[in-house]
Amino acid sequence: MRLTLEEIFDEFADLDRQDQSLYLLELGDGLPELEDAARTEQNKVHGCQSQVWLITQVDGGNEYARFTIVADSDSNIVRGLIAILEAAYNGKTAREILEYDIDSIFRRLNLQQHITPQRRNGLRGMVDQVLKLARMHLGKIGGPEPNVVRQVAGDARSVRELSSGGSHASEPQSAPNGIGILNVDNIRRQFPVLCRMLRSGSRPIFLDSGASAQKPQCVIDKEREVEEQYFANAHRGTYQFGQRIDEEFEGARTAISRFLNAPSASNIVFTPGTTIGLNMIASGWGRKHVQAGDEILTSIMEHHANFVPWQQLAKDRGATLKLIPLTSDGRLDMDQLDSVLTKRTRVLAITGMSNMLGTVNPIRELVQRARAVGACVVVDGAQSVPHLPLDVIADDVDFLAFSGHKLYGPTGVGILYGKSERLEEMDPIIFGGHMISEVRIAASSWSAAPAKFEAGTMPIVQAIALGTATEWVQRTGLESIHQHEQLLTKLAMAQLQAVPGITVYGPDVAHRGGIITFRIDGIHPEDLAAMLDQQDVFARHGHHCTMPLHSYLGVSATTRISFAAYNSTDDIAALMNAIEFALKKLMRR
Ligand code: PMP
Repeated sequence: MRLTLEEIFDEFADLDRQDQSLYLLELGDGLPELEDAARTEQNKVHGCQSQVWLITQVDGGNEYARFTIVADSDSNIVRGLIAILEAAYNGKTAREILEYDIDSIFRRLNLQQHITPQRRNGLRGMVDQVLKLARMHLGKIGGPEPNVVRQVAGDARSVRELSSGGSHASEPQSAPNGIGILNVDNIRRQFPVLCRMLRSGSRPIFLDSGASAQKPQCVIDKEREVEEQYFANAHRGTYQFGQRIDEEFEGARTAISRFLNAPSASNIVFTPGTTIGLNMIASGWGRKHVQAGDEILTSIMEHHANFVPWQQLAKDRGATLKLIPLTSDGRLDMDQLDSVLTKRTRVLAITGMSNMLGTVNPIRELVQRARAVGACVVVDGAQSVPHLPLDVIADDVDFLAFSGHKLYGPTGVGILYGKSERLEEMDPIIFGGHMISEVRIAASSWSAAPAKFEAGTMPIVQAIALGTATEWVQRTGLESIHQHEQLLTKLAMAQLQAVPGITVYGPDVAHRGGIITFRIDGIHPEDLAAMLDQQDVFARHGHHCTMPLHSYLGVSATTRISFAAYNSTDDIAALMNAIEFALKKLMRR
């Protein structure tokens, strides 16, 4: 017998926690079985601990057709979860399914309490499968997705109209080469800080996500949930809180490994952030493998975090630091790569995306060329990971470091990804609790990765919430976020370039991400940033931790704006108005 959501809610509300878990099992008992013919490989949901098959039946070939989900599993708890999914989704159209806030159902049922992180990943896999089938249906009948609007290529006015209002979102557009972008209104509503009113009566126009992104409610809720409900140290106690925190902590590691498409969760090391991660690699791997006479290859566009550690290593080891030349528009000059990438190159340390020029570097090609000379490739993913779909296996990078706070997650936590063999040959640089295998008076030995690199108490709450942030990004769709930011970048570049006396640094939109850095003749970037702030537009000024690049460009400081999923064309309009205001104020002097 299939139950409605309200019937399930009613039952849940009357039960205590333990009985709720039993009720999930009972729900599973009551679920009709899927016929054998449907238990095929094709219908299997991937990412589940247990076997799950899921199909959808649609009662028509148009946008009003209603979906019925039929699924089954070899686990009864999962069958219970399927019953909830069926109650939530059945009878809805594809568009309603895509718009439906399934997480609110999971929250209302407090499913966190009843299922393990692995099961939660499986549940997410089932939801993703349903969403995929709904999208496929809309694709087949030619209808737009509700969270997706169509861009009319190159037409700034239509783009602004399309992305400014939620009500436009479901209207079909006649875009021959349209790309899917986000419904920003829906997204913004999930970020409390962006919805708050400033003293001026306006909302903040936040254009500094390159420094730190804002956090969605689900990330804030997760931190709070951990602190309020089951906080304990990780990998210490086996009491109830200890068990729960370990599950959550390791569940976050698994979620992050999925996000990167890493071979396994053991390739994921929690760190305090990109800077520490890169230092760990330069010291822990570099000191062991870079010898006198070797070369370390990097670029002048690097953030200090991916420049100074290698500079120090080169000094310590008697190695040479070399730079890949740049083209005049601020890209790596790949034609000149062979002049600097030699048989002596031990490490190629490169940013995925420049935090000043916005340049997106061709990581896959760089890895292939570095492989040919046997160099190890370290990618600074601080800017690229939050904005560009990435696949560490396909790209074949050796090491990758990034920070949680730029990925809609908390500060104080980051990730160091390493290939298994690289992590194995890398030494820890911090010693203490948890990372050891055995400690004796004469000597000690280390655990295997990732524990080897996680000495002491980790940023537990932040790490767990970073897992939630990566799930949020996956749910929103990194590819969509990327497309959306590209669209904003294109619009903003076109409008900024029309400002008299402006110099916009870096390449065209095809070679960059959502970061735009500029100077306006006769105006100091700090003054400009202060004027923008008066108009509630938050942009950054300074050298952005790229002093070598600023010297190379012959400037001491610049103004930078950077985009994230929650920025809209309205933000660009506000920026342009604020620049006009600043020009009037500052040019008069
Ligand atoms: N690399 C790049 C490209 C960055 O943009 C940043 C942050 N601005 C870092 C490294 C350092 O990140 P964190 O301060 O989080 O360690």
